[in-house]
Amino acid sequence: MAKTVDQLTVKGKRVLMRVDFNVPQDDSGAITDDRRIRMALPSIRNVLERGGRAILMSHLGRPSGDPADAKTYSLAPVAKRLGELLGQAVTLAPGCTGPAVRKAVDALKDGKAILLENLRLAGSEVESKKKDKKTGEVKLVKKWTSFEEQGAADMAKGIAELGELYVNDAFGTCHRDHVSMVGVPALLGADKCAAGFLVRKEVEYLQEKLAKPAKPFVMIMGGAKVSDKIGVIENLLDKVDVLLIGGAMSYTFMKAAGVPTGNSLVETDKLDLANHIREKAKTAGVRLELPVDFVVGDDLKNPTATSVAVGRIPDGKEGFDIGPATAKKYAEVLKSAKTIVWNGPVGVFETPAYREGTRVVAEAVAAATDAGAVSVIGGGDSASAMEVVGVDQRLSHISTGGGASLELLEGKQFNSLKVLG
Ligand code: AMP
Repeated sequence: MAKTVDQLTVKGKRVLMRVDFNVPQDDSGAITDDRRIRMALPSIRNVLERGGRAILMSHLGRPSGDPADAKTYSLAPVAKRLGELLGQAVTLAPGCTGPAVRKAVDALKDGKAILLENLRLAGSEVESKKKDKKTGEVKLVKKWTSFEEQGAADMAKGIAELGELYVNDAFGTCHRDHVSMVGVPALLGADKCAAGFLVRKEVEYLQEKLAKPAKPFVMIMGGAKVSDKIGVIENLLDKVDVLLIGGAMSYTFMKAAGVPTGNSLVETDKLDLANHIREKAKTAGVRLELPVDFVVGDDLKNPTATSVAVGRIPDGKEGFDIGPATAKKYAEVLKSAKTIVWNGPVGVFETPAYREGTRVVAEAVAAATDAGAVSVIGGGDSASAMEVVGVDQRLSHISTGGGASLELLEGKQFNSLKVLG
């Protein structure tokens, strides 16, 4: 893995820092959760406290090219909030490239920070790969060409010219081959680049610690769909000792095995896939556990009509959580675990009536962690589930990235990290 930010000599240097300030906002533009800004502070402070000049950059939302976007998607509220958190005002640059931005960057003093305006307002930040149907050639295409102002290469050059060093601490975007993630560091060269502390920790837990996991290795897979998690299961199956299945995903496995699932969510086009995973687990000597009981209801909007069903889901009912016997069984398995990977809540934890399974399993993961296990929680819904049931401070690592964490667990290599050296 590449250097980390603290290994760069930053004194008096202009340090381009790609961070993830894609924060949620209310209709008035006020930031409703500043967690992402706070997560980037250790790397930013490290640069500022050592006399570096931080040139911060991020995307925000998905601007469509509308003239009103400049205001709606401006990073101005982020610059203000970041200033409060850092205890020093943070200037917002009038764009991310060009002479006016250059002037603002040149005026920056040691130990001070400037924030470039939302990268996606420049139009060339987002790119995707597309296969030419005729030639089969894979090309980079711009997704939002409607308001493209300049080409991606120009944009990368324009940003790279602003800085002397580059730090990537935007884990949530690491799986994207965007200008600011790949183009800019490629121009500066790996010797001028480093990973931020946040990215470093994500890679350490989602990749390095899982390369040779301490045993027993227990994986918990839940959430809504088998299809979202298949890559992770396939990649880690040969290392895992026990695979505990929960959430709506279990019903696809049950249906595939001929067990009645009532009205529960089933991915009917993934039944073969579920059987394939079961077979693979068997061949690999992995113990695959499905729920033995379920908390069922009539519909999500009426969570009071709740009962426990054993072995199968009755006709007309829908499963919303694992039942108490399953939760106990899974907790028992987790007691001896030394490595735990968990992705996807085992029930509809957002609704208190269907939260208990996730709470019991989370408590068991936290207890195993207290006893020395390494616990890694995939991002997105699983992260908020851990907060809701109150164990978030007791786990080894809760990923900040949804898609990026899944892709690392799937064993993918990111260009944004390769380019750091
Ligand atoms: P995912 O993004 O695939 O990890 O899915 C997370 C979502 O799965 C959460 O919002 C849960 O409410 C939902 N979920 C978990 N268990 C169930 C279930 N039994 N039925 C329906 N949705 C579920």
